[in-house]
Amino acid sequence: MDLLLFGPPGAGKGTQAKFLIDLLRIPQISTGDMMRAERKSGSELGRQFDEYMSAGKLVPDSLVLDLILKRLTQEDAKNGAIFDGYPRTVAQAESLDALLEKLDRRIDRVVSLDVPLQDIVERVTGRRVCLDCGQTYHVRYSPPPQNGECVSCGGNKIVQRSDDTEEVVRKRYEEYKAKTEPVLAHYGAKGVVKGVEGVGSLEEITERIKEAIGVE
Ligand SMILES: [Zn+2]
Repeated sequence: MDLLLFGPPGAGKGTQAKFLIDLLRIPQISTGDMMRAERKSGSELGRQFDEYMSAGKLVPDSLVLDLILKRLTQEDAKNGAIFDGYPRTVAQAESLDALLEKLDRRIDRVVSLDVPLQDIVERVTGRRVCLDCGQTYHVRYSPPPQNGECVSCGGNKIVQRSDDTEEVVRKRYEEYKAKTEPVLAHYGAKGVVKGVEGVGSLEEITERIKEAIGVE
């Protein structure tokens, strides 16, 4: 199954993707992580990414698609993949559809996580992260230990990231509404979209997603 996890930034797509990787035994396609890995590998494609990224420029869609194609034809992704954070525009969705069609595949299901802006603001502004190991906390739901020591690595650098502010959240949300949300209508027309309420405990949301994609 090729699955697209959809929703505004901060809706919890990445967290849910981690559960789904184990459940569906298919990998997550994270274009950002893949681009960084490709740069490190020193491949020709990686060298091209490097030219754009080190100049602070946007990597052209055609190069990103080359990377996705390469990833989808690897053994572990032959039966499907979880897309999260891509496509971000209708043009990207159309290109991805064309690429999948060449592989005799398609986006079989779009799970759209519905989370009100106010909840996203609360989640993101309450987020704290360990600079040493990446462990995340939330001031209300999973507060960092009183002594300031990270539960995962024992480090003492638990901080609020500089872009985890209400202003940044609202700006990203507006951009999502304008450019990314139309992707939903694109797939809605194909009849593959399922809306899922993205508010509640992680377990509750995972259960709803499982129901939406028809797995136990
Ligand atoms: Zn840590």
